[in-house]
Amino acid sequence: MPLIDSLSPRQRFLAATPDHSGDNKALKAAQHRQWLQEIQTWAGHEGASARLARHLTPVPILDDRLDTVTTDGRHLFFNARFTATLRPVERHFITAHLVWHCVCGHIVAQSHRDNLRWNLACEHEANYLVLLEGLRLPRDAVFYFSQAGRSNGQVYDWLAAHPHPQYDHHFDQHPLDPPRDYDEVTLVDPDYTPLDADDALANLWLELAQRERLATPLRAYLIKRQG
Ligand SMILES: [Zn+2]
Repeated sequence: MPLIDSLSPRQRFLAATPDHSGDNKALKAAQHRQWLQEIQTWAGHEGASARLARHLTPVPILDDRLDTVTTDGRHLFFNARFTATLRPVERHFITAHLVWHCVCGHIVAQSHRDNLRWNLACEHEANYLVLLEGLRLPRDAVFYFSQAGRSNGQVYDWLAAHPHPQYDHHFDQHPLDPPRDYDEVTLVDPDYTPLDADDALANLWLELAQRERLATPLRAYLIKRQG
């Protein structure tokens, strides 16, 4: 399986830009421009997820409540300090990962008995679709080889027997993640305003994906998942 570097934000933040408001504004603007340009480039010749990503509005933020990236099915919120440390291949992976979360309906908050298992099952499924599209996974991406081709519901059940699911983690923010402790939040960005996603929005994403030119294994997986 092709791999790219780890996306661990903690290490990357050590090299982050200092906190000066003027610099921050410029950083957000630069990252916004870069992400828009890259999505346009990838959409031109590199796969369905980038074309689908044009339905998401990229929103750069600098906010302690979001260390990395997330999507609510309408926006692609990203911490500009985090994405500034990434290479294009890593931003490409993140874009695809978030798009497949939308297409699989992971953006809808569905409470489960075990939210950790549910988050990991969704993470595995989004990353499986990234692989089916022919893109690379980061070294520390959640992916269970024995569960390739199984839906998030099936992987959730399988994880019940996993000895140490707590050692795995998703790099992006998911709807069931608990909010950051108030004491840990000093920087709040008014641009960070994620909305709740519902089943109608998730179904729209699935329709959008089915209208795309998808690689045959990807299309087959989505059909099987619906059935
Ligand atoms: Zn994720």
